[in-house]
Amino acid sequence: MADRKKKTFSFVIVGGGIAGVTCVEQLSSQIPSADVALITASPYIKTVTNYKQVSKTLEEFDVAERPFSVLVEKFPNITVIHSAVKSLHTQSHSLETADGRIFGYEKLCICSGGRPKLLTWDNPYVLGIRDTDSAQELQKQLSTAKRIIVVGNGGIALELVYEVEGCEVIWAVKDKAIGNTFFDAGAAQFLIPSLEVEKTIRAAPCKRPRYTTEDPEPGASQTFTAGLHISDKNARRHGSGPIEAGSALGPDWHDGIVLRGAEQVSRIVSLEYQCEVEKIFTSAELLNSPQQTPENEGSWPIYIKLTNGKTFGCDFVVSATGVVPNVEPFLHDNNFALADDGGLQVDDHMMTSEPDVYAAGDVCTACWVHSALWQQMRLWTQARQMGWYAGRCMAANVLSESIELDFCFELFSHITTFFNYKVVLLGKFNGQGLGPDHELLLRCTKGQEYVKVVLSGGRMVGAVLIGETDLEETFENLILNQMDLTPYGEELLNPNIDIEDYFD
Ligand code: FAD
Repeated sequence: MADRKKKTFSFVIVGGGIAGVTCVEQLSSQIPSADVALITASPYIKTVTNYKQVSKTLEEFDVAERPFSVLVEKFPNITVIHSAVKSLHTQSHSLETADGRIFGYEKLCICSGGRPKLLTWDNPYVLGIRDTDSAQELQKQLSTAKRIIVVGNGGIALELVYEVEGCEVIWAVKDKAIGNTFFDAGAAQFLIPSLEVEKTIRAAPCKRPRYTTEDPEPGASQTFTAGLHISDKNARRHGSGPIEAGSALGPDWHDGIVLRGAEQVSRIVSLEYQCEVEKIFTSAELLNSPQQTPENEGSWPIYIKLTNGKTFGCDFVVSATGVVPNVEPFLHDNNFALADDGGLQVDDHMMTSEPDVYAAGDVCTACWVHSALWQQMRLWTQARQMGWYAGRCMAANVLSESIELDFCFELFSHITTFFNYKVVLLGKFNGQGLGPDHELLLRCTKGQEYVKVVLSGGRMVGAVLIGETDLEETFENLILNQMDLTPYGEELLNPNIDIEDYFD
């Protein structure tokens, strides 16, 4: 390989997702004359649009798929190379692409994202969702489906079960409550009525200083039926054309896609709690194993047996059980330190363990000593923040400038929408890593808002805000300034007190 002619760039970024594109843009604004190459496997890049800084740490934006030309027009110093990286040789500072080209780099940033953790890769009736291509495949298969099984309890599963219409959904979650990645059981109970009929429930505020929820029994199930209803969503598309090895979909990825099955119903969701998939069968295999009794009659192309003993048939299974970092092409011949979750370990300057190699976004694992109020989650916001900060670190290194860990890593914050509710997560919103030494305050108005505050030693360390609570900025300030809130006690969530004025 060393003998083959190669073009060397000052900076090479791998990956046209949000982390890679933000990194390239940041580098180009820091050093406009630098020759920067973006190597990406997908024919489109992801760009941040409508960026809005909501508060000190909360940010909102849309993500759009764009052709490469948009980037090159804005930053003439950028060369975009459309190919997948096949191998990396950190000793010779070079990488080889799938089409046989070799590129040298002085500094490299790997932003290759992640790929779905599928239950199995060789069953056509098991689908994962990652990119536009896989979302289109889901839409196609769904149009003739009567029943699907969704396995997983993260953001994708949550959005999917809420969005799918015209099809029975069996939702298998390994936890005691839905949305375990984002919520506790209390918030899950608040959201669950949204899976029922589409009706507006308004009730008087109930203020409970501590919360208790009844966990479903292990292996228990719940069913919600929405009856006959067809909504008329319009099909809109953010981009066009198929995507190979594409970047992860954007927030509201389902907006442009009609997720409707073959039946004339709006929503039928059955929940199977605290169970995982034990086995996957074809209908032929099921016939040959008479001990398997499906829960429902019918002939389906695929059956799954859950660890709660139940067997269900369906048209297809959506495997939404998380992502694994896309590291494989970079590991051979190199000595990258990998984290337990398989990500490339990065330090507080986004540097991996290999010289001159940085990483950002879903592919990396933040291994610096975290602020007491921050944790890594593989989300859009963090992919953008990491790409931005990696770009700055790379530029600072070349310009021999010093750079401190960015403020965005001080406090975890995320805004999203689940079941049509605005959801704001701040700090240790689920008491992550706090052990038993914390206290929860809760205010809940059914169908309207759910407010949870996590206190440790009298100080606010996290919050979950569901609905239009208008509390995010005040709570963010209280978390950041670590004021002792002991004197306020439960009054902190008194709905009759304008908390914003109170702490002004
Ligand atoms: P990606 O977006 O995955 O981009 C990786 C890029 O690297 C791609 O361009 C790919 O083509 C390229 N690439 C990969 N391998 C190679 C290679 N060998 N050579 C060259 N190029 C390569 N997050 C939220 O915050 N909110 C949400 O609502 C949300 N919803 C989601 C819904 C779905 C269905 C999915 C899958 C994810 C969702 N996420 C959400 C997570 C979010 O999409 C990711 O955290 C984010 O996209 C990560 O960005 P990234 O740039 O690190 O990686």
